[in-house]
Amino acid sequence: MHIDIITLHPGLLESPFQHSIVKRAIEKKLADVTIINLRDYGLGNYKQVDDAPFGGGAGMVMTIEPIANCIEELKAQRTYDDIIYMTPDGERFNQQIANSLSMHQNIILLCGHYKGIDDRIRQLYITKEISIGDYVLSGGELPAAILCDAIIRLLPGAISDETSALSDSFQDNLLAPPVYTRPAEYKGLKVPDVLLSGNPKQIDNWRHEQSIEKTRKSRPDLLS
Ligand code: SAH
Repeated sequence: MHIDIITLHPGLLESPFQHSIVKRAIEKKLADVTIINLRDYGLGNYKQVDDAPFGGGAGMVMTIEPIANCIEELKAQRTYDDIIYMTPDGERFNQQIANSLSMHQNIILLCGHYKGIDDRIRQLYITKEISIGDYVLSGGELPAAILCDAIIRLLPGAISDETSALSDSFQDNLLAPPVYTRPAEYKGLKVPDVLLSGNPKQIDNWRHEQSIEKTRKSRPDLLS
């Protein structure tokens, strides 16, 4: 899978790809992520990428040409399944969207800044708009990193035990059951006996019951 991320702040996107599962998936060539500095497409001597909003008001708006030129250049090199704008007014990101994006070959993620991007970019180029939640951040970089993490860990081979991603929360609309490791007792708190029983069927049943119980308590909306 190939991911191009268009950003004005490439530095914000360095660390998320240099650790843990995501780093290993990139090393194994399951995913390849290119960070594109939108400033390189800025106009004039000052490499301008933003301007004051028509109609007045506070904040700057990211201009059309640098983004359009950048996207056009990328599109000349590959066919993209989706060109995604990270934006608080987009569709709320969830596991189902992560699952479906993880099947794509090539995607572009566009990170906004300031007041956002000129709406005509959305009309002309953007095929999907995704929000990571009902709050406003300064830029689309952290949302893009979150989206990449969620989809890259789903790529076959990214997690050593592939079934492990399937038993995570939100697959099957359930929250994951509690997990324990050594020591078997800590400050009087014991690991449930069934997990020490060595009986896989009983353990599976217990985990499933715990999942349902936890979902009923914390996220009943998932069960309906
Ligand atoms: N004026 C816009 C917010 C701009 S925030 C509004 O009120 O809707 C600046 C940039 O941060 C956005 O262009 C977007 O790329 C990113 N961003 C902020 N919050 C986000 C969120 N919850 N999900 C995804 N992207 C977000």
